[in-house]
Amino acid sequence: MTLADDIRPIPISEVTEWADEADVVIAGYGVAGAAAAVEATRAGADVLVLERTGSWGGAASMAGGFIYLGGGTDLQKACGFEDSVDNMAAFLNVAMGPGADSQRIADYCEGSVAHFNWLVSCGVPFKAEFFGEPGWEPMGDQGLMYSGGENSYPFNTIAAPAPRGHVPQMQNKKQGESSAGYMLMKGLVDTATAAGARSLYDVRVQALIVESDGRVVGIRTRRYGTTMDIRARRGVVLATGSFAYNEAMVARYAPRIAGRPAASIEQHDGQAIRMAQALGADLAHMDATEVALFIDPQQLVRGILVNERGQRYVAEDTYPGRAGQLTLYHQNNTAYLIIDGDAQDEAMASLTPQLMLRPPTWVADTVADLEAEIGLPPTSLQATVDAYNEGAARGEDPLLHKKAQWLKPIKSPVGAIDLRESTGGFTLGGLHTTLDAEVLHVSGEPIPGLFAAGRCTAGLAAWGYASGVSLGDGSFYGRRAGRAASQA
Ligand SMILES: Cc1cc2nc3c(=O)[nH]c(=O)nc-3n(C[C@H](O)[C@H](O)[C@H](O)COP(=O)(O)OP(=O)(O)OC[C@H]3O[C@@H](n4cnc5c(N)ncnc54)[C@H](O)[C@@H]3O)c2cc1C
Repeated sequence: MTLADDIRPIPISEVTEWADEADVVIAGYGVAGAAAAVEATRAGADVLVLERTGSWGGAASMAGGFIYLGGGTDLQKACGFEDSVDNMAAFLNVAMGPGADSQRIADYCEGSVAHFNWLVSCGVPFKAEFFGEPGWEPMGDQGLMYSGGENSYPFNTIAAPAPRGHVPQMQNKKQGESSAGYMLMKGLVDTATAAGARSLYDVRVQALIVESDGRVVGIRTRRYGTTMDIRARRGVVLATGSFAYNEAMVARYAPRIAGRPAASIEQHDGQAIRMAQALGADLAHMDATEVALFIDPQQLVRGILVNERGQRYVAEDTYPGRAGQLTLYHQNNTAYLIIDGDAQDEAMASLTPQLMLRPPTWVADTVADLEAEIGLPPTSLQATVDAYNEGAARGEDPLLHKKAQWLKPIKSPVGAIDLRESTGGFTLGGLHTTLDAEVLHVSGEPIPGLFAAGRCTAGLAAWGYASGVSLGDGSFYGRRAGRAASQA
């Protein structure tokens, strides 16, 4: 082990000199770190943010920008949608589970309207326009979209559908490069800076510094090969992101996404989790992951998704991330999208810039021929298409309840898009924290002086996911972390 790899806690007696100090020291300047910086400075604390790269932003500034909020935000109302705290919680308790923390969900839903107002007060812009097309994110600068399958089966039978994907306004977006997450980050960082938060870049946090009684009082960091110890007079906030890019941790905790990190950045190497673990921190939901299925929803919704037995398994008009999770975890990461020529043409002509629209891998005159070309068991796909077409002709999908607007019998010529190994995602598990973002020791007690938020913690999602949950719980509990640390 090199010096730079040593994550073991440093006794304060070993510190010879403090390179810097602040009331609250925050590790990581992404969404959770920025939200913590705003709240801690507003609470009167002297705040220092330590960031490993040369600038603020993290994964958040590359993100599509969905922030999962509801319960009747001004944006929802302006777009003509009704929602309530209980309705939002009813959806999340099912969609984030099994194993979702209902207390955390209740807390988050209760504070959701106020959190939206807080984001607006930080200068994050939202345009009161709803985007109703299938898609991974709005293609224009619209501010609201369904982002978790709220309006599709089974969730539309559990809670009244309401869109909750709140997206900051940004013009000239370019997916994954210049996205609305930047507008969220800019608002938060500008607010934190104006309130007096300081930041240091190219500083990599490495280990926690502790008093003899176990209280966290600082962070050991490395900068250009030099060790710097930074003192935290009140508290340390960990906000360095997930472990999606730590191969060993992924292999141990979430092996199904091994080799396929997506919607993440290399800096998400699990450092904060390991540093806190070395101090006895508890973990939660380490096997939970977000999973994207690499197909444009404009195509997905117009076809039928079948597994290696030629059978459907998910309503194709649901949140595509749900289709991704079900494909990876329950269908051996094997899927084929069956789509006929008309449906493919319609998708091609849809509003989505044809970034992800994929041509069929196989095309045939009959379903029987297509089934043989793909190599599916004889008659399996034929039986699936016969049953689907019979229902679609009546405007019904008795098996999976895809909405009538997307039901059309599949005709000839018919194609299939090979979606084997077409998933990727990021990890959702991490440090087990209280609702005030205190990091819990395995004993169940908070570790004094240590707080955490964002994807280094287990947040709202246990098994399921909805787009916006990460920027949502990262900013929400980032604020709690900043506030609690400033009062510690
Ligand atoms: C293309 C893309 C699209 C996405 N779309 C969405 C979306 O629409 N909605 C949504 O909710 N989520 C989305 N996500 C996921 C979301 O961006 C992240 O899950 C979220 O940013 C996590 O917040 P965080 O504060 O924990 O991490 P980040 O925002 O990544 O911030 C962590 C920061 O810590 C720094 N850091 C890491 N290690 C160290 C260290 N040792 N020392 C110092 N600093 C360190 C990193 O460099 C980074 O700046 C998307 C991600 C990507 C990449």
